[in-house]
Amino acid sequence: MVYETGNETVDDALERVVAGEQLDRTDGIALLAQPVDALAAAGAAVRDHFGDGTVDACSIVNAKAGNCAEDCGFCAQSVHFDTGIDTYGFLGPEKILEAAKRAERDGAQRFGIVVAEKGVSKKNRPEEWEEVLESIRLVRDECDLEVDASLGILTEEEAAILAEEGINHYNHNIETSPRYFPEIVGSHSFEDRVETLEVAKAAGMDLCAGVILGMGETPTDRVEAAIALQDIGVSSLPVNVLNPVAGTPLAERGVEISTEEIVETVAVYKLLHPDARVRLTGGREVNLEPDEQHLPLEAGADGILTGDYLTTEGQSPGDDLEIVERAGLEPNMDTNEFDPEAVKARHSDATESSTDGTASTGAEPSDD
Ligand code: SF4
Repeated sequence: MVYETGNETVDDALERVVAGEQLDRTDGIALLAQPVDALAAAGAAVRDHFGDGTVDACSIVNAKAGNCAEDCGFCAQSVHFDTGIDTYGFLGPEKILEAAKRAERDGAQRFGIVVAEKGVSKKNRPEEWEEVLESIRLVRDECDLEVDASLGILTEEEAAILAEEGINHYNHNIETSPRYFPEIVGSHSFEDRVETLEVAKAAGMDLCAGVILGMGETPTDRVEAAIALQDIGVSSLPVNVLNPVAGTPLAERGVEISTEEIVETVAVYKLLHPDARVRLTGGREVNLEPDEQHLPLEAGADGILTGDYLTTEGQSPGDDLEIVERAGLEPNMDTNEFDPEAVKARHSDATESSTDGTASTGAEPSDD
């Protein structure tokens, strides 16, 4: 395959990535200033060179919603903001299993149990901690899914237990660059987030950590977030785009992001993280037109969060399969063999929607 886009800066970077070199902050900033078409071609070339031509689908359940004591400015689940979302305590293993079975049937390869708070604490809430572990075991035993978790800040002991229970990826997003983070979150620090990722990694779990675009960050912030993730070492990099929820500080600020910025950032992230799945997650449906949904996949993305988010609805898994096909790619079926045509047919009548809170009903595009 010839890796050329016709743009000297992009082609030089592409050649170096394919040769095994890791690009740095200077490269990322120079790349982000290049035309979006050249970047998209390079992002796709990196994906095709290092990947298997598939798009990996994950799904999440919002296992405990709202009333979080933290003050993340994008998040509808913070107790500090009046967003009117449904709040509920831990759903319990059976409802989580129901959500996992639905995700499996819809073609997800991995399933994440997400709890909205700073951290599920074995010491302070031992009963809830045990329920989380029971849920993990149940899903692992009864579904063909990798089981992931997003439970907030972890101690070394908690991380060791989760790794022992078979958690595949631990998710803890860094949200944005180290510089911009304090303008978004006041109740904990960027370093707190990195520390938990290091604890999870040391315990043997793979890391899923990413960002939210469109929060008013600069292009340099976008690059610096990706460089921070290089230092941490992630195998899944979720790219959320802010879906502003009324009542949150970021909705009040009225920040915006263009399609071009989303596509070029995805492409540069793939160049900076050739070995990670760059995963399209929350907010894409509201920030991209229906006929633009496939563009980030054409620019090198190779993962998708399918179904609903934590407090907002996503599009149907059938629609997600269609945008994967439109980008000329195939769904990953490593863990869960399913029939894509059956998924599309099942969702075409749009009658199957969850109202019991077991499919994540998030309002913010991100998770913990
Ligand atoms: S992102 Fe997580 S930690 Fe921050 S307010 Fe929302 S639920 Fe709490």
